[in-house]
Amino acid sequence: MPSSLPRSLWFARALLPGGWAGRVRLRLAAGRICAIEANVDPAGQDERHGPAVPGLPNLHSHAFQRAMAGRAEARGPGADSFWTWREAMYRFVDRLDADDVEAIAALAFMEMLESGFTRVGEFHYLHHAPDGTAYGDPGELAARIAAAAADTGIALTLLPVFYAHAGFGGLPPGHGQRRFVNDVDGFAAVMASARRAVAALEDGVVGIAPHSLRAATGAEIGAILPLAQGGPVHIHVAEQTKEVEDCLAFCGRRPVERLFDIAPVDRRWCLIHATHMSEAETRRLAGSGAVAGLCPITEANLGDGLFPARDSLAHGGRFGVGTDSNVLVDAAEELRTLEYGQRLALRARNVLAGAAGRSTGRDLFDAALAGGAQALAAPAAGIRVGAPADIVTLDAAHPSLVAHAGDTLLDGWIFGARGGAVDGVWRAGRKYVTNGVHHERERIRRGFARVMEKVLA
Ligand code: ZN
Repeated sequence: MPSSLPRSLWFARALLPGGWAGRVRLRLAAGRICAIEANVDPAGQDERHGPAVPGLPNLHSHAFQRAMAGRAEARGPGADSFWTWREAMYRFVDRLDADDVEAIAALAFMEMLESGFTRVGEFHYLHHAPDGTAYGDPGELAARIAAAAADTGIALTLLPVFYAHAGFGGLPPGHGQRRFVNDVDGFAAVMASARRAVAALEDGVVGIAPHSLRAATGAEIGAILPLAQGGPVHIHVAEQTKEVEDCLAFCGRRPVERLFDIAPVDRRWCLIHATHMSEAETRRLAGSGAVAGLCPITEANLGDGLFPARDSLAHGGRFGVGTDSNVLVDAAEELRTLEYGQRLALRARNVLAGAAGRSTGRDLFDAALAGGAQALAAPAAGIRVGAPADIVTLDAAHPSLVAHAGDTLLDGWIFGARGGAVDGVWRAGRKYVTNGVHHERERIRRGFARVMEKVLA
């Protein structure tokens, strides 16, 4: 169980919406921040901690894929790509039962908290039993994701996925996709069950996710949108060049153009990847207010390509980051990989810093916090009155952070620390991570190990 709710927390410094403040005291009630004082000494009963930053949202995860990490890195007979990786993923997913899915998700969510994420957007497309038949409760696996969130303490935005086809033009789904597919009525039943499961969670949010333009037709996307009930809408789009070619062959339009043609894309939407865009598409996405959901580690692992980040920001585009395949779960490394990809492509430094003199780490962090919170419909972003106390402290004695203050703390964490920089993590005022270790790490790690031994036997 998490440690009991403290009534106040004191930090040597904290990143507040208006910038860094020193000697900050937060008063908490029912998991919310109810007062913030700066330049004050700790009171007698206050817990005392080092530098504090807001917990980051992880806007895109497929939790079960955590179990595949390091198991698809051997070269195949032909040219390996996203598509050969996907075949390996389909073979793996066939072996997982509901208990396995919950145990794997618990490991992934625990690691997210340990790295500084306090909310996850779970893009949940595994719905049915291994033979493809629906469970008695169509939301059985959605409930298992909610249970893993409750077990670890991470806040959940659950995004049940509508998946119906193998390719553009409504192609029938393949055998490897049998656990994912629903018609519109079947998906409505999944949504109803998922809402019941998430209702039990503190600050739980439900949205929807048409999987992609490959897996959902325009008519189906139109039919399922009301099921979001005003919540967030996420979709994979333009991740791979083959998807662009297939979309052009199907309708003469590129994927992001096509999406804007068929759907009312606005700030409720999050376009996952949006890697391969023309300049006009980049401008249109930026102007829509929708968030680009970038997954730099996974995009590198799968050889997807690079998001046009500089052009997007020049047009006021918003982004957040996600751990997607969970091949490596690390908030700082997602931001580092995002910036380094741009540096390598453009042969330049500090590409995503907003202006001369701005810290790259700070601007990456601020953008991922705001974009992630918007995309996941989080109650609020940042350490502010009324927001849930979702807080990460850094270890000021870590060699990459020692003698840093202000924005260079973020630069030291993101660019200089190879791990171990996160100290404590609170979610809704409860502390789940101390000295970088989740309080239930041993039990969750053992549960995951049992699954792996069984599944790989
Ligand atoms: Zn994904």
